[in-house]
Amino acid sequence: MALIVQKYGGTSVGDIDRIRNVANRVAKTRKEGNDVVVVVSAMSGETDRLIRLAQQAHETPDLREYDSLISTGEQASAALLAITLQSMGIPARSFLGSQIRILTDSAFSLARIQDVETKHLRRAIKAGVIPVVTGFQGVDRAGNITTLGRGGSDTTGVAVAAALKAHVCEIYTDVDGVYTTDPNLCPEARKLSRISYDEMMEMASLGAKVLQIRSVEFAKKYNVPIHVRSSFNDRSGTWVVKEDEKMEKVLVSGVTLNKNEARVTISGVPDKPGIASKIFTPISDAQNSSADGLADMTFTVPKADIKRALRLVKKTADSLQAREVLADENIAKVSIVGAGMVSHSGVASKMFTALAGENINILMISTSEIKISCVVEAKYGELAARVLHKVFGLEKGGLKKES
Ligand code: ADP
Ligand code: ASP
Ligand code: MG
Repeated sequence: MALIVQKYGGTSVGDIDRIRNVANRVAKTRKEGNDVVVVVSAMSGETDRLIRLAQQAHETPDLREYDSLISTGEQASAALLAITLQSMGIPARSFLGSQIRILTDSAFSLARIQDVETKHLRRAIKAGVIPVVTGFQGVDRAGNITTLGRGGSDTTGVAVAAALKAHVCEIYTDVDGVYTTDPNLCPEARKLSRISYDEMMEMASLGAKVLQIRSVEFAKKYNVPIHVRSSFNDRSGTWVVKEDEKMEKVLVSGVTLNKNEARVTISGVPDKPGIASKIFTPISDAQNSSADGLADMTFTVPKADIKRALRLVKKTADSLQAREVLADENIAKVSIVGAGMVSHSGVASKMFTALAGENINILMISTSEIKISCVVEAKYGELAARVLHKVFGLEKGGLKKES
């Protein structure tokens, strides 16, 4: 008998029929002799709706109240699934993050899970009751409701699986698994049967929203195998696991496109040590180019954070007597990811040449050991992703690493 954590995303619980479909899957898994713990997201569109309401009430809402509000979608779907299971004669009980005690820090809207208590979950499992856990939410030490960032139900799923030492965390979504690039964007995308934690982390951080990055960090840390699959069919999906020799040695494993970032440029700041850290400490992907003893600094932030970021940056810019602060939301970040590119020269130039071949101007570049990202004008984002997918042979299994 195995213990299986099943996380169902927004589309999978999007209406009552789909919730019934989920209940049938849960029932089947249990009938096969497994213990099941379910984690659910809000019904699709619900979190967005709640966020819009908050923004109508206040341009930059207080984040404690924001979390209280946007966490409610999961409460509704968890209770609905528990009711549906009960209607089928299967004992089930919904649990909020605070009821289980999914303890987080107090970073409202982006909280990190610190501990998951298992007492209530184990008691329910032992009594033959299926626990249905709200994803995305937790509680801090002071008892405030917190949320884990967009897509955070994945992280709840993996954290619950880690705490219970489950055999697997199944992530049920609206695609069949993790693809070489977003299959809704590029019809040639190929499903990967396996991907390493490290590659998946890069893909997630660069815009492949199929898994929240923190869920993969958790899975790697606690060695939880993740199986990403569709809730609409029985096909095997993608296993996210530790890297091993059997994994294909391709140069580039995937291409990602992130349209949710904005570029901020602070021009005319003094070009001397210490300035960058003052401005950028909380922000990634900073770049710096200099002329005439004054420098321009450019970085990207999630579009959702642009108002807050500009407020903070303008304060610092004023104190440094910088020339001006500019924001550009009309950008996209396209990236290639692959453990195979470690110490393999030529990958970057192949990428830049391919983009140049389509007359796509590169506005920013950033790299790590296993990824290269380029910021381009938003209108070229999808074309860039498709071109790179093709150039690195991903529709045919990927260009092999010559050793
Ligand atoms: P859920 O609501 O189930 O959590 P999400 O919308 O968060 O689902 O994530 C699934 C979506 O991720 C897919 O519909 C797909 O468009 C997108 N996606 C982006 N990149 C990839 C990729 N490389 N492989 C699979 N899906 C991807
Ligand atoms: N409902 C939350 C969101 O839309 C969490 C999730 O779906 O994982 O971001
Ligand atoms: Mg998601």
